[in-house]
Amino acid sequence: MAERNSFVFDFDSTIVAVETLDTLIKQNLNDEEDRRRIDEITLRAMNGELDFSASLASRLRLSRARTEHFARMAGQIGDLLTPGMDDVLSFLARRGQKLFIVSGGFAEIVRPIAELFGIPDEDCFANEYVADDKGCVVGVKDGPLAHEGGKSAVVHALREQNRLPGAVVMLGDGMSDYQVYADGLADLFIGCGFNVARPNVRTSSPVFLETPAALLSLIESLLPQCL
Ligand SMILES: [Mg+2]
Repeated sequence: MAERNSFVFDFDSTIVAVETLDTLIKQNLNDEEDRRRIDEITLRAMNGELDFSASLASRLRLSRARTEHFARMAGQIGDLLTPGMDDVLSFLARRGQKLFIVSGGFAEIVRPIAELFGIPDEDCFANEYVADDKGCVVGVKDGPLAHEGGKSAVVHALREQNRLPGAVVMLGDGMSDYQVYADGLADLFIGCGFNVARPNVRTSSPVFLETPAALLSLIESLLPQCL
């Protein structure tokens, strides 16, 4: 591996221990049936059985989410880091590696974590919501990540703009993360079974790790030793 490489991280269930949108939604929902339907939609989307934008729209519709719910989640997100991921991210930052976050979640929630590890806004890619004048979140702004294959589109654009130094390592728990590697846009994919181990990601991934500690050891072994 080169002195400086590109590490492209998924956010939900990778850097943080939860699916943030689902957590946000469940905080608002008392209805068991709605909760169960949201779980089912999430699982199907994560397994690649359901179109991403369709699943996002259904979840927003079911949730009756408001802008203040997003602000509250943004305030809590530092407490939801996957245990051990702070060590991984601060190690990479210390070693001068280039870090990106590419998330199908929402920028308002992703950015506080990015800031924590010195990842600037321009290296942080996520969706933006659309709210009406009463503060109800009614949809998602159009952008690459609001669509199927959005993560590949973002990494492809970064490649075109020569913004990915060294080897490109993609990391995440979902099939959309794996797809970036399958599309030939990353040199390595590391399946992250830290919070949830998805069977099709486990079987597809060239490397599948159960803990951030295992990830840290692997990265230490891949990077050139400090002299
Ligand atoms: Mg994820």
